[in-house]
Amino acid sequence: MLTADRERLISLMTEQAEFGGTDAGGLHRLALTEEDRVARDWFCNLLDDAGLDVRIDAIGNVFGRREGIDPDASPVLLGSHLDSQPYGGRFDGPLGLLGALELVHVLEEEDLDTTHPVEVVNWTNEEGARFQPPMMASGVWAGKYDLDDVYAATDDNGVTVEAALEEIGYKGPEPAEPPEAYDAYLELHIEQGPKLEREKKDVGVVTGIVGLTWTETTFYGQPNHTGPTPMHLRQDALVAAGDLITQVPRTANKLSDTTRGTVGAIEYDSEAISIVPDEVRLVWEFVDYEDELVEAGYQRTLDEIEQIARRHDVEAESSEITRFESVAFDDRCIQAVEAAADDLGYDSMRMHAGAGHDPMNVAEVCDTGMVFAVSEDGLSHTEEEYTSWDDCYSAVNTLINAGYQLAK
Ligand SMILES: [Zn+2]
Repeated sequence: MLTADRERLISLMTEQAEFGGTDAGGLHRLALTEEDRVARDWFCNLLDDAGLDVRIDAIGNVFGRREGIDPDASPVLLGSHLDSQPYGGRFDGPLGLLGALELVHVLEEEDLDTTHPVEVVNWTNEEGARFQPPMMASGVWAGKYDLDDVYAATDDNGVTVEAALEEIGYKGPEPAEPPEAYDAYLELHIEQGPKLEREKKDVGVVTGIVGLTWTETTFYGQPNHTGPTPMHLRQDALVAAGDLITQVPRTANKLSDTTRGTVGAIEYDSEAISIVPDEVRLVWEFVDYEDELVEAGYQRTLDEIEQIARRHDVEAESSEITRFESVAFDDRCIQAVEAAADDLGYDSMRMHAGAGHDPMNVAEVCDTGMVFAVSEDGLSHTEEEYTSWDDCYSAVNTLINAGYQLAK
């Protein structure tokens, strides 16, 4: 079995956390910012030092390639992302990326050739914090999104993705698409949930990714003076919004144990105390591995919104912003990850990913799989996010052996 260099992994993980590192030990490295540029430059140097051919595509994805023996064999790709959430954690993304690079380091040190080329990739803007949608660059690469549409996406200051790429020097010369067929893609990521820790497992073997809907609803009421307007004549948009906020989780609970329903965003810009609230915008989400349950949550909530609007005599408008179908990974990738964990003596479990990841896009191009590392207390997208070095090490060893198995 291959074994990662634990000290190198720790030292690189520690180094990368300085680019956009926060006082509380987290990471604030939004996509295509100066911090992202510094991290990318550092990463490109690592690829270079490892003897890889580096190429950058038009959406800023960075690839490093180690040739295989068979010129006709298609590459095995491993990767993740360097960008973070605002005040996010230092493991989400970089662990998978440096884990992927570790395979190349170990192959070099052990002087091992592979039949297939091995490529390492840093996907641009996985998080979708500064620019939406999330996972936009793997989406372009996989042919799900149009490059020009994604170039035109803007941040809160009106800066486009294209301008931001140019600003940091990462609008690369390569077309943002696979230059050839790919054999397989593997990604190591932190679990971002509590299952592995609760079940006392060393690593997770991910069999697929949940689907989801994000839908935006706006309630329009009638602004009026609160004192003279009797309660039965109110058209209060905020009370309607309140009903929706409690209804969405209730619907999820009724649907199944696995369905998640959340109202995570609300926009109501008034601090007026004596005016009946007139306009509130919310975004609600349903997540499940079963696409029918996501659809059921969506439909039931649309029905519920009609009733809420009638009850409070307000208007409601809804439109779906995003829908991702769930993705089932490929058996050969799942088995490669599981076998690697077994052979290394790690205790693993099969599980679904409960959040979106680049592999859901890459799965359109080639066979795909994922390895999960333990997330302490299931926390992520926060500075408190933590994975012990032991758990990082187990997950990286699983990744590199699975990757080697596929590339060998
Ligand atoms: Zn991530």
